[in-house]
Amino acid sequence: MTKYALVCGAGGFIGSHLVKRLKKEGFWVRGVDVKFPEFAETEADDFVIGDLRDQNVCDRVVDRTFDEAFQLAADMGGAGYIFTGENDADIMHNSATINLNVLDRLYKRNTKRVFYSSSACMYPAHNQEDPDNPNCEESSAYPASPDSEYGWEKLFSESLYLAYNRNHGMINRVARYHNIFGPEGTWNGGKEKAPAAVCRKVAMAKSGDAIEIWGDGNQTRSFLYIDECLEGTLRLTRSMFEGPVNVGSDEMVTINQLVDLVADISGKKIEKDHIPGPLGVRGRNSDNQLIEEKLGWRPSQSLREGLEKTYEWIELQVRRNAA
Ligand code: NAD
Repeated sequence: MTKYALVCGAGGFIGSHLVKRLKKEGFWVRGVDVKFPEFAETEADDFVIGDLRDQNVCDRVVDRTFDEAFQLAADMGGAGYIFTGENDADIMHNSATINLNVLDRLYKRNTKRVFYSSSACMYPAHNQEDPDNPNCEESSAYPASPDSEYGWEKLFSESLYLAYNRNHGMINRVARYHNIFGPEGTWNGGKEKAPAAVCRKVAMAKSGDAIEIWGDGNQTRSFLYIDECLEGTLRLTRSMFEGPVNVGSDEMVTINQLVDLVADISGKKIEKDHIPGPLGVRGRNSDNQLIEEKLGWRPSQSLREGLEKTYEWIELQVRRNAA
Protein backbone atom coordinates (compact mmCIF):
# COMPACT_ATOMS: atom_id res chain seq x y z
CA MET A 1 0.00 0.00 0.00
CA THR A 2 1.36 3.41 -0.95
CA LYS A 3 2.09 5.73 1.96
CA TYR A 4 1.47 9.46 1.54
CA ALA A 5 3.59 12.24 3.02
CA LEU A 6 3.28 16.01 2.98
CA VAL A 7 6.36 18.21 3.37
CA CYS A 8 5.65 21.91 4.01
CA GLY A 9 8.75 23.97 3.31
CA ALA A 10 9.91 21.42 0.72
CA GLY A 11 11.77 24.11 -1.22
CA GLY A 12 13.98 24.82 1.80
CA PHE A 13 17.17 23.24 3.03
CA ILE A 14 15.88 20.56 5.41
CA GLY A 15 12.58 20.06 3.55
CA SER A 16 14.25 19.32 0.21
CA HIS A 17 16.54 16.73 1.83
CA LEU A 18 13.56 15.23 3.68
CA VAL A 19 11.66 14.79 0.40
CA LYS A 20 14.60 12.79 -1.00
CA ARG A 21 14.74 10.62 2.09
CA LEU A 22 10.98 9.91 2.05
CA LYS A 23 11.16 9.03 -1.65
CA LYS A 24 13.93 6.54 -0.88
CA GLU A 25 11.61 4.98 1.69
CA GLY A 26 8.92 4.56 -0.97
CA PHE A 27 6.50 7.31 0.03
CA TRP A 28 4.38 9.28 -2.41
CA VAL A 29 5.38 12.82 -1.47
CA ARG A 30 3.71 16.18 -1.95
CA GLY A 31 5.93 19.18 -1.34
CA VAL A 32 4.75 22.74 -0.87
CA ASP A 33 6.69 25.98 -0.69
CA VAL A 34 6.72 29.47 -2.17
CA LYS A 35 9.78 28.37 -4.15
CA PHE A 36 11.39 25.30 -5.65
CA PRO A 37 14.61 24.00 -4.05
CA GLU A 38 17.45 26.28 -5.08
CA PHE A 39 20.25 23.80 -5.71
CA ALA A 40 18.70 20.57 -7.05
CA GLU A 41 15.53 19.42 -8.76
CA THR A 42 12.83 18.36 -6.27
CA GLU A 43 12.14 14.64 -6.06
CA ALA A 44 8.56 15.18 -4.83
CA ASP A 45 5.80 13.46 -6.83
CA ASP A 46 3.78 16.63 -6.62
CA PHE A 47 5.18 20.07 -5.79
CA VAL A 48 2.75 22.90 -5.09
CA ILE A 49 4.03 26.44 -5.32
CA GLY A 50 1.91 28.35 -2.83
CA ASP A 51 1.91 30.59 0.21
CA LEU A 52 0.87 28.64 3.32
CA ARG A 53 -0.30 31.86 5.01
CA ASP A 54 -3.17 31.69 2.54
CA GLN A 55 -6.02 29.46 3.74
CA ASN A 56 -7.05 28.65 0.17
CA VAL A 57 -3.58 27.31 -0.54
CA CYS A 58 -3.78 25.16 2.60
CA ASP A 59 -7.15 23.78 1.46
CA ARG A 60 -5.68 22.88 -1.91
CA VAL A 61 -2.57 21.28 -0.45
CA VAL A 62 -4.34 19.34 2.28
CA ASP A 63 -7.00 17.77 0.07
CA ARG A 64 -6.52 14.27 1.50
CA THR A 65 -5.27 12.37 4.53
CA PHE A 66 -1.51 11.93 4.81
CA ASP A 67 0.20 9.12 6.71
CA GLU A 68 2.87 11.57 7.81
CA ALA A 69 3.05 15.35 7.50
CA PHE A 70 6.10 17.50 8.20
CA GLN A 71 5.69 21.22 8.86
CA LEU A 72 9.04 22.90 8.21
CA ALA A 73 7.91 26.11 6.50
CA ALA A 74 8.97 29.20 8.44
CA ASP A 75 10.21 32.71 7.94
CA MET A 76 13.76 32.28 9.14
CA GLY A 77 17.40 32.87 8.46
CA GLY A 78 20.78 33.15 10.12
CA ALA A 79 21.75 35.54 12.91
CA GLY A 80 21.87 38.42 10.43
CA TYR A 81 18.13 38.01 9.80
CA ILE A 82 16.80 36.91 13.18
CA PHE A 83 18.77 39.00 15.67
CA THR A 84 18.80 42.47 14.15
CA GLY A 85 15.20 43.17 15.22
CA GLU A 86 14.30 44.50 11.78
CA ASN A 87 12.31 41.42 10.76
CA ASP A 88 10.54 40.61 14.04
CA ALA A 89 7.00 41.42 12.96
CA ASP A 90 7.32 39.41 9.74
CA ILE A 91 8.95 36.47 11.48
CA MET A 92 6.19 36.21 14.10
CA HIS A 93 3.25 36.91 11.83
CA ASN A 94 4.33 34.75 8.92
CA SER A 95 5.39 31.64 10.82
CA ALA A 96 2.49 31.68 13.30
CA THR A 97 -0.02 32.09 10.46
CA ILE A 98 1.50 29.15 8.57
CA ASN A 99 1.32 26.92 11.65
CA LEU A 100 -2.23 27.91 12.56
CA ASN A 101 -3.47 27.29 9.02
CA VAL A 102 -1.59 24.11 8.19
CA LEU A 103 -2.21 22.30 11.46
CA ASP A 104 -5.94 22.98 11.46
CA ARG A 105 -6.33 21.81 7.85
CA LEU A 106 -4.40 18.61 8.58
CA TYR A 107 -6.60 17.96 11.60
CA LYS A 108 -9.79 18.54 9.65
CA ARG A 109 -8.67 16.18 6.87
CA ASN A 110 -7.85 13.47 9.42
CA THR A 111 -4.07 13.48 9.26
CA LYS A 112 -2.99 12.32 12.69
CA ARG A 113 0.79 12.37 12.70
CA VAL A 114 2.41 15.76 12.12
CA PHE A 115 6.04 16.63 12.76
CA TYR A 116 6.83 20.22 13.75
CA SER A 117 10.32 21.71 13.67
CA SER A 118 10.90 24.01 16.60
CA SER A 119 14.31 25.46 17.36
CA ALA A 120 16.88 25.70 20.14
CA CYS A 121 16.30 29.47 19.84
CA MET A 122 13.32 29.00 22.17
CA TYR A 123 15.54 28.28 25.21
CA PRO A 124 15.90 31.06 27.83
CA ALA A 125 18.73 33.44 27.03
CA HIS A 126 19.84 33.59 30.69
CA ASN A 127 20.74 29.87 30.63
CA GLN A 128 23.10 30.44 27.74
CA GLU A 129 25.38 33.18 29.02
CA ASP A 130 28.25 30.89 30.03
CA PRO A 131 29.87 29.65 26.81
CA ASP A 132 31.33 26.60 28.59
CA ASN A 133 28.14 25.54 30.31
CA PRO A 134 24.97 26.40 28.40
CA ASN A 135 21.81 24.69 29.64
CA CYS A 136 19.56 23.43 26.87
CA GLU A 137 17.83 20.66 28.75
CA GLU A 138 14.26 20.33 27.45
CA SER A 139 12.78 20.97 30.90
CA SER A 140 14.59 24.33 31.16
CA ALA A 141 12.29 25.94 28.57
CA TYR A 142 10.00 27.59 31.16
CA PRO A 143 9.82 30.23 32.59
CA ALA A 144 10.40 31.25 29.01
CA SER A 145 12.80 33.98 27.99
CA PRO A 146 14.16 33.44 24.48
CA ASP A 147 16.43 36.13 23.04
CA SER A 148 14.51 36.54 19.78
CA GLU A 149 10.95 36.87 18.50
CA TYR A 150 11.74 33.87 16.31
CA GLY A 151 12.14 31.87 19.55
CA TRP A 152 8.85 33.19 20.95
CA GLU A 153 6.98 32.11 17.83
CA LYS A 154 8.52 28.64 18.12
CA LEU A 155 7.32 28.39 21.74
CA PHE A 156 3.81 29.40 20.73
CA SER A 157 3.72 26.86 17.91
CA GLU A 158 5.14 24.02 20.04
CA SER A 159 2.22 24.59 22.42
CA LEU A 160 -0.20 24.72 19.52
CA TYR A 161 0.84 21.30 18.16
CA LEU A 162 0.72 19.72 21.60
CA ALA A 163 -2.69 21.28 22.32
CA TYR A 164 -4.06 19.55 19.20
CA ASN A 165 -2.76 16.28 20.65
CA ARG A 166 -4.59 16.85 23.91
CA ASN A 167 -7.82 18.29 22.57
CA HIS A 168 -8.17 16.61 19.17
CA GLY A 169 -6.44 13.24 19.58
CA MET A 170 -3.62 14.00 17.14
CA ILE A 171 -0.17 12.42 17.54
CA ASN A 172 1.98 15.40 16.66
CA ARG A 173 5.71 15.34 17.35
CA VAL A 174 7.88 18.35 18.20
CA ALA A 175 11.67 18.56 17.77
CA ARG A 176 13.94 21.41 18.75
CA TYR A 177 16.57 21.54 16.03
CA HIS A 178 20.05 22.82 16.89
CA ASN A 179 21.94 24.39 13.95
CA ILE A 180 21.50 21.99 11.05
CA PHE A 181 24.01 22.21 8.22
CA GLY A 182 25.09 20.42 5.06
CA PRO A 183 25.27 20.61 1.29
CA GLU A 184 22.47 22.35 -0.64
CA GLY A 185 21.85 24.85 2.16
CA THR A 186 21.90 28.63 1.85
CA TRP A 187 25.56 29.63 1.65
CA ASN A 188 25.44 33.35 0.80
CA GLY A 189 23.09 36.33 0.70
CA GLY A 190 22.64 36.99 4.44
CA LYS A 191 20.37 34.11 5.55
CA GLU A 192 23.19 31.54 5.77
CA LYS A 193 24.20 30.04 9.12
CA ALA A 194 27.67 29.99 10.69
CA PRO A 195 29.01 26.71 9.16
CA ALA A 196 28.01 27.78 5.64
CA ALA A 197 29.27 31.34 6.13
CA VAL A 198 32.61 30.11 7.44
CA CYS A 199 32.97 27.54 4.62
CA ARG A 200 32.24 30.28 2.05
CA LYS A 201 34.67 32.76 3.58
CA VAL A 202 37.42 30.15 3.76
CA ALA A 203 36.71 28.92 0.21
CA MET A 204 36.98 32.50 -1.08
CA ALA A 205 40.16 33.29 0.88
CA LYS A 206 43.75 32.71 -0.16
CA SER A 207 46.07 30.95 2.26
CA GLY A 208 47.33 33.57 4.74
CA ASP A 209 44.22 35.78 4.40
CA ALA A 210 42.08 36.87 7.36
CA ILE A 211 38.32 36.25 7.33
CA GLU A 212 35.79 38.34 9.25
CA ILE A 213 34.19 36.74 12.31
CA TRP A 214 31.33 38.33 14.26
CA GLY A 215 32.31 38.93 17.89
CA ASP A 216 35.35 37.48 19.66
CA GLY A 217 34.69 33.98 18.30
CA ASN A 218 34.57 32.50 21.81
CA GLN A 219 30.79 32.03 21.62
CA THR A 220 30.01 28.28 21.55
CA ARG A 221 27.62 26.26 19.41
CA SER A 222 27.03 22.73 18.18
CA PHE A 223 26.12 21.80 14.61
CA LEU A 224 24.21 18.78 13.33
CA TYR A 225 24.75 17.30 9.88
CA ILE A 226 21.62 17.10 7.72
CA ASP A 227 21.51 13.27 7.41
CA GLU A 228 21.54 12.95 11.20
CA CYS A 229 18.78 15.55 11.45
CA LEU A 230 16.58 13.53 9.08
CA GLU A 231 17.23 10.32 11.00
CA GLY A 232 16.25 11.99 14.29
CA THR A 233 13.22 13.59 12.67
CA LEU A 234 11.84 10.33 11.29
CA ARG A 235 12.58 8.33 14.43
CA LEU A 236 10.74 10.91 16.52
CA THR A 237 7.81 11.18 14.10
CA ARG A 238 7.27 7.41 14.21
CA SER A 239 7.85 7.04 17.95
CA MET A 240 5.54 7.02 20.96
CA PHE A 241 7.22 10.14 22.37
CA GLU A 242 5.64 13.48 21.50
CA GLY A 243 8.52 15.71 22.62
CA PRO A 244 9.53 18.48 22.58
CA VAL A 245 12.99 16.97 22.27
CA ASN A 246 16.35 18.29 21.13
CA VAL A 247 17.59 17.10 17.76
CA GLY A 248 21.15 18.33 17.71
CA SER A 249 24.78 17.47 18.22
CA ASP A 250 26.46 17.76 21.61
CA GLU A 251 29.92 18.27 20.13
CA MET A 252 30.25 21.88 21.27
CA VAL A 253 32.85 24.14 19.64
CA THR A 254 33.68 27.83 19.73
CA ILE A 255 33.25 29.75 16.49
CA ASN A 256 37.04 30.18 16.45
CA GLN A 257 37.42 26.38 16.61
CA LEU A 258 34.87 26.04 13.81
CA VAL A 259 36.99 28.36 11.66
CA ASP A 260 40.15 26.38 12.48
CA LEU A 261 38.43 23.12 11.55
CA VAL A 262 37.26 24.46 8.20
CA ALA A 263 40.68 26.00 7.53
CA ASP A 264 42.28 22.63 8.24
CA ILE A 265 39.87 20.86 5.87
CA SER A 266 40.65 23.42 3.16
CA GLY A 267 44.40 23.09 3.66
CA LYS A 268 44.72 26.90 3.94
CA LYS A 269 46.21 29.03 6.68
CA ILE A 270 43.41 31.37 7.78
CA GLU A 271 43.63 34.34 10.17
CA LYS A 272 40.60 35.77 11.98
CA ASP A 273 39.46 39.37 11.90
CA HIS A 274 36.98 39.87 14.76
CA ILE A 275 34.37 42.49 13.96
CA PRO A 276 31.11 43.61 15.63
CA GLY A 277 27.99 41.78 14.45
CA PRO A 278 24.74 40.13 15.63
CA LEU A 279 25.72 37.30 17.96
CA GLY A 280 22.79 35.59 19.63
CA VAL A 281 23.43 33.79 22.91
CA ARG A 282 26.95 33.31 24.30
CA GLY A 283 26.80 29.51 24.45
CA ARG A 284 24.52 26.78 23.11
CA ASN A 285 24.82 23.02 22.99
CA SER A 286 22.31 20.26 22.45
CA ASP A 287 21.50 18.25 25.57
CA ASN A 288 20.92 14.74 24.22
CA GLN A 289 19.97 12.86 27.36
CA LEU A 290 16.24 12.89 26.70
CA ILE A 291 16.44 11.76 23.08
CA GLU A 292 18.76 8.93 24.08
CA GLU A 293 16.43 7.89 26.85
CA LYS A 294 13.22 8.09 24.81
CA LEU A 295 14.37 7.01 21.35
CA GLY A 296 17.57 5.10 22.15
CA TRP A 297 19.32 7.19 19.53
CA ARG A 298 21.94 9.90 19.32
CA PRO A 299 23.78 11.42 16.36
CA SER A 300 26.95 9.52 15.51
CA GLN A 301 28.95 11.54 12.97
CA SER A 302 31.65 13.96 14.06
CA LEU A 303 31.40 17.65 13.17
CA ARG A 304 34.48 17.26 11.01
CA GLU A 305 32.86 14.56 8.83
CA GLY A 306 29.87 16.78 8.12
CA LEU A 307 32.03 19.84 7.52
CA GLU A 308 34.19 17.97 4.99
CA LYS A 309 31.13 17.21 2.83
CA THR A 310 29.74 20.70 3.28
CA TYR A 311 33.02 22.47 2.51
CA GLU A 312 33.43 20.45 -0.67
CA TRP A 313 29.97 21.48 -1.86
CA ILE A 314 30.34 25.18 -0.92
CA GLU A 315 33.78 25.39 -2.49
CA LEU A 316 32.24 24.14 -5.73
CA GLN A 317 29.50 26.81 -5.50
CA VAL A 318 32.11 29.52 -4.94
CA ARG A 319 34.11 28.36 -7.97
CA ARG A 320 30.98 28.16 -10.16
CA ASN A 321 29.92 31.63 -9.04
CA ALA A 322 33.29 33.07 -9.88
CA ALA A 323 33.34 31.47 -13.35
P1 NAD B 1 14.64 27.13 5.02
O1 NAD B 1 14.46 28.60 5.15
O2 NAD B 1 15.62 26.61 4.07
O3 NAD B 1 13.24 26.45 4.72
C1 NAD B 1 12.02 26.99 5.11
C2 NAD B 1 11.15 27.02 3.88
O4 NAD B 1 9.88 27.56 4.23
C3 NAD B 1 11.72 27.93 2.76
O5 NAD B 1 11.94 27.19 1.58
C4 NAD B 1 10.64 28.97 2.58
O6 NAD B 1 10.46 29.39 1.24
C5 NAD B 1 9.42 28.26 3.11
N1 NAD B 1 8.38 29.21 3.45
C6 NAD B 1 8.52 30.35 4.17
N2 NAD B 1 7.35 31.01 4.21
C7 NAD B 1 6.47 30.25 3.50
C8 NAD B 1 5.10 30.42 3.21
N3 NAD B 1 4.42 31.49 3.61
N4 NAD B 1 4.48 29.47 2.46
C9 NAD B 1 5.18 28.39 2.01
N5 NAD B 1 6.48 28.18 2.28
C10 NAD B 1 7.10 29.12 3.01
O7 NAD B 1 14.94 26.59 6.49
P2 NAD B 1 15.44 25.17 7.00
O8 NAD B 1 16.81 25.35 7.51
O9 NAD B 1 15.15 24.13 6.00
O10 NAD B 1 14.50 24.98 8.28
C11 NAD B 1 13.31 24.25 8.27
C12 NAD B 1 12.60 24.37 9.61
O11 NAD B 1 13.48 23.97 10.66
C13 NAD B 1 12.17 25.80 9.95
O12 NAD B 1 10.92 25.73 10.61
C14 NAD B 1 13.21 26.27 10.92
O13 NAD B 1 12.71 27.25 11.80
C15 NAD B 1 13.56 24.99 11.65
N6 NAD B 1 14.92 25.04 12.21
C16 NAD B 1 16.00 24.98 11.39
C17 NAD B 1 17.27 25.05 11.93
C18 NAD B 1 18.49 24.99 11.06
O14 NAD B 1 19.60 25.02 11.60
N7 NAD B 1 18.38 24.90 9.73
C19 NAD B 1 17.45 25.17 13.32
C20 NAD B 1 16.33 25.24 14.13
C21 NAD B 1 15.07 25.15 13.56
